[in-house]
Amino acid sequence: MALIEAVSASKIYRSGDVEVAALSDITLSIEAREFLAFVGPSGSGKSTLLNLVGCLDHPSSGTVTVMGTNVAALNRTASAAFRGEHLGFVFQEFNLVPVLSAYENVEYPLLMVRNWPADKRRTQVMKMLDAVGMAEQAHKRPDQLSGGQKQRVAVARALVSEPQLVLADEPTANLDHATAHNVIALMKQMRDEFGTTFVFSTHDQKIMEAAERIVMLEDGRIVKEQRA
Ligand code: ADP
Ligand code: MG
Repeated sequence: MALIEAVSASKIYRSGDVEVAALSDITLSIEAREFLAFVGPSGSGKSTLLNLVGCLDHPSSGTVTVMGTNVAALNRTASAAFRGEHLGFVFQEFNLVPVLSAYENVEYPLLMVRNWPADKRRTQVMKMLDAVGMAEQAHKRPDQLSGGQKQRVAVARALVSEPQLVLADEPTANLDHATAHNVIALMKQMRDEFGTTFVFSTHDQKIMEAAERIVMLEDGRIVKEQRA
């Protein structure tokens, strides 16, 4: 079975009398270990699709199944538990906690979802910081790090609980080009090392070329697919 299956999934937002079809009739399957990008212009539905795949939202019609679980069947509590157990997230704005060190930011998900003893936790946090090349900056707070370093910490945080799937919504949008390439290369390296599936979105032509599979969206529909 595929890791992710969307069958005729649509998402309609309603505000008053106005309906916006953010996604229409999306059918897609994603296998474990894929390194895949959703690509399309602003407003094409990339974030909406990532939110469905990340169990942050339900489709208006059709189904989205993540690791055999129908996301529409999960209530708020169950979907939060499911995300904590199986998923990692990387955000455009990094979303690190400003008062916590890099080490503490990476440790945070483990404190939330894994009941591990302190020494096991410490080993895992340092393993992840080391994997992203940030072990020596472990004590620094986000405001002492560059954008690229912050995103490296965010990648370590997304991976620390060893999720099967990491979702990244425009993870390179706030980075310069060289740094953006490094972050994508790092994510691919993490996929190779840990077997984690990565699904990210971008509207950047150059960044999308690093993906092994590209799903192009336009006006909420898949218009093209391409494999490297
Ligand atoms: P992208 O991430 O590709 O820029 P989005 O998934 O954010 O696209 O948005 C797709 C469409 O859905 C856009 O037309 C956007 O305005 C609309 N949309 C997204 N979120 C909402 C919302 N919460 N309420 C109403 N419309 C929304
Ligand atoms: Mg978006």
